[in-house]
Amino acid sequence: MSLLLFLLLGALIGWYYDRTITGLLIASLLGLAWQTRQLLQFERALRTDNFDKFRYGEGIWEQLFSRVRFDRERGRRRKEAYRNLLKEVRKSTDAMPDGAIILNSRNEIVACNRAASVLGGLKRKKDRGQRLDNILRDQSISALINASNFDQSIEVASPVRDGDWLNCRVVPYGVDQKLFLLRDVTERVRLGKMRRDFVANASHELRSPLTVIGGYLEALSDDDELPPQWEKPVQQMRSQSERMQQILAVLMELSRLENATSASHEEAIDVGSLINKVLTSLPRQPGQADISTKVTCSTQLLGREAEIESVLVNLLANALRYTSADGSINVSWTHDTDGASLVVEDTGIGIEAEHLHRLTERFFRVDRGRSRDDGGVGLGLAIVKHVLVRHDAELDIRSEPGSGSCFRCVFPASRLDKSVS
Ligand code: ADP
Repeated sequence: MSLLLFLLLGALIGWYYDRTITGLLIASLLGLAWQTRQLLQFERALRTDNFDKFRYGEGIWEQLFSRVRFDRERGRRRKEAYRNLLKEVRKSTDAMPDGAIILNSRNEIVACNRAASVLGGLKRKKDRGQRLDNILRDQSISALINASNFDQSIEVASPVRDGDWLNCRVVPYGVDQKLFLLRDVTERVRLGKMRRDFVANASHELRSPLTVIGGYLEALSDDDELPPQWEKPVQQMRSQSERMQQILAVLMELSRLENATSASHEEAIDVGSLINKVLTSLPRQPGQADISTKVTCSTQLLGREAEIESVLVNLLANALRYTSADGSINVSWTHDTDGASLVVEDTGIGIEAEHLHRLTERFFRVDRGRSRDDGGVGLGLAIVKHVLVRHDAELDIRSEPGSGSCFRCVFPASRLDKSVS
């Protein structure tokens, strides 16, 4: 509006001097110069982010100045709020005792908290952008971050302090990112080792006196001069000492399995033949269910034959123990989509769902009285579980009370001998 008036004034003055066009031209040039000055002021205000110093003009320029100034101010306030929030988040993640490392889709480090740099020995700034498996050089860590199974967690030796242990797991985070979590589990691992050592040492120490007692009891029960009133007590003592020796032997085997590393891949096991061998040597009693077999997988299993045999013996002994004569038992060795399965299935008494997750605990028995009367110790499935762990396999148990149970040992493809099939 003011520009129009200014141009009109120029034209009027020009007209007065009989130079209307010249007057209009001069007024236009002056107007243009003023607008250019405003534009330069605006550009400087934008550049220096100082709208107070260059605040100038009227009309549309004033509106433009105050609008941009307002937006800038609002942006600054927001940025400040975000910065404070970020500081708080960083402070709280740094206060966490567990390590957290953000990884992008290429497993490169985006950021990590203080605990991660302490536990994993990472340098927060220097290692940013590096692949985590190049810094924490451990095969199981590489496998963990490359796997898409987010339920898994592993325990690895600390890369920073000898004797320390870390629990590592990965959870999905944001779009295509992962959060690698580290926890110091040294104390738990130490207590676990103490427990294992205690059980192994106690079992070892108890074995010798028990062998002596068992020897004397055997001699006594064979002695023709034993007074008749002592025959029954001595017989009972002898069978209890044998049971204790059996428990100690299983406990020592469990300790050995727990302390051992992964079973070697060197031995190739013909599982079909092993099943036949176990079925022939399994002590059978009259009134036990029939056992059928199904072997459709000819691929050999890589591992320790003696241990796989003990898995079969334990699962079959249980199936026989908990299945009546009119029931049936089937043992099979078949291919899976990825790997192979050794399955022992029965139509026995079954197990209630609430007990399933506890079956592999030491000394756990659903019905203590019945299991003990049937010769059960409660260690058979613990042995099975540990042997399977050593063979990278998993135990899948399905059961329904009154209908029967199915114990499936699932071996991965890496445990199958691909050279012979
Ligand atoms: P046990 O020596 O007592 O059989 P295990 O560790 O082998 O010990 O088994 C633990 C418990 O699991 C058993 O006491 C029993 O209650 C239950 N169990 C194992 N196998 C079977 C099965 N095939 N059918 C029913 N119950 C079973």
